[in-house]
Amino acid sequence: MNPHHHSLFIGGQWVTPASEERITVLDASTEDVLGSVPNGSEKDMDAAVAAARAAFDDPDGWAAWEPARRADALHRLAEALERRAEAITRIVSAQNGMTISLSEQVEGALPTVLLRYYADLIRDDTGEEVRDGMLGAPVHVRREPLGVVAAIVPWNAPQLLSATKYAPGLAAGCTFVLKPSPETVLDAVLFAEAVEEAGLPPGVVNVVPAGREVGAYLVSHPGVDKVAFTGSTGAGRQIGAACGTLLRPVTLELGGKSAAVILDDVDLGSAIAEPFFQATLLANGQACFASTRVLAPRSRYDEVVDAVSSLVGGLTVGSPLDPTTQIGPMATARQRDRVEGFISQGRAEGARLVVGGSRPDFEKGFYVTPTVFADVDNAQVIAREEIFGPVLSVIAYTDEDDAVRIANDSEYGLGGSVWTDDDERGMRVARRMQTGTVGLNHYTVDPAAPFGGIKASGLGREFGPEALRNYQQIKSIYR
Ligand code: NAD
Repeated sequence: MNPHHHSLFIGGQWVTPASEERITVLDASTEDVLGSVPNGSEKDMDAAVAAARAAFDDPDGWAAWEPARRADALHRLAEALERRAEAITRIVSAQNGMTISLSEQVEGALPTVLLRYYADLIRDDTGEEVRDGMLGAPVHVRREPLGVVAAIVPWNAPQLLSATKYAPGLAAGCTFVLKPSPETVLDAVLFAEAVEEAGLPPGVVNVVPAGREVGAYLVSHPGVDKVAFTGSTGAGRQIGAACGTLLRPVTLELGGKSAAVILDDVDLGSAIAEPFFQATLLANGQACFASTRVLAPRSRYDEVVDAVSSLVGGLTVGSPLDPTTQIGPMATARQRDRVEGFISQGRAEGARLVVGGSRPDFEKGFYVTPTVFADVDNAQVIAREEIFGPVLSVIAYTDEDDAVRIANDSEYGLGGSVWTDDDERGMRVARRMQTGTVGLNHYTVDPAAPFGGIKASGLGREFGPEALRNYQQIKSIYR
């Protein structure tokens, strides 16, 4: 792959960008330059929106195609992505530090799963239902494609979080302008190449890497009909405000500070180590749903702190491209510094550092040693703010009600997990948690079930049949 790209994928062609500004990406573990792409400007966004608009408004175009024809095209896109899966997987890991074993599943495989899932959901769907009206005449209720979508994604799982938008959105008949995050732009080039190879009509998918100002320009662009965003709560509030003023539909998948509720009956033996690791520290802690507040019963507090510390202290930290690595580097120096800032704050607030808290002894790379704080109060900053790194806080609770109270005492409500040997008890606690998703003795997002947050974790849901509705509007025809 040529690591330095000089054109943007707009209107089905590789076009010369309007400006000479560039985005350069560093390898998170070696700090070497990995490659660069043009930095999209407002003019490039204008061109991309115009292309998406023309593709959507074409009376014989994508939106008007029979669903089965769109479904076939999505299958072709899945195949084209599959042919690039290895390259995509490696470049994502190199850019953001995600371990290669995880990247293979999340960035390489899952987007193709989603494409096929939504293709098959719409293949035989007429999008129209005829109901018996209450006035003696039939009523036709139609689900029509919403229009041009601005999809804005973060760096932590760039391919998956793009696919959670374009897979249902394209299936529904929408067209897209995708704006990847500046930290992960090289995988986006591979995605654009796959779109081209799959033969999607020109303008159905356009890819313009850019920073936040040009992202904000895209959000408010008059040619855009809907915004689909994943990223921080701060940016989500700004985007939500802009869309509110414009009365523009928006879905927001934002930050989290989820709780792992360890009930007092649980067997802390080796069987829970792997699922607990995945629920709390997946993607080097750079996962929005990570259960980073570990709630431990006072009656077994020391035992839980010991078990969590020995698990976290024993993790293999290293190059994300090594298949045995469990924790890779943070995506950027800025992200590493931010995580270290929270670790200093935890110490300053009097939390007890049990393991980690430093940098591993590597010459290069944005690494942070996986860290556990004990004796954390849920009011402390490290228990309230999203750290987005490998840092867990163990918080004591007195009884089940207290555990639920602490779990729910958060600005956020995205993920969460309950750990118990009593399934019914686990379900009872899971039902009481104020959050969009909860895992019982594991936390693995299932694409068939809606995923998303409440409170400051966002608006709307992705995944499942529900996600199709994000890209459709409803029309009633009173016949
Ligand atoms: P970020 O908000 O800084 O950036 C995300 C994307 O939005 C980038 O492409 C950025 O360029 C763009 N952007 C930023 N401000 C914008 C604005 N005002 N208008 C338009 N575009 C703007 O987030 P990040 O640091 O890249 O990603 C990490 C965050 O994403 C974390 O908070 C994490 O929890 C969240 N996240 C949420 C989910 C979820 O599904 N809920 C999934 C992954 C990550």
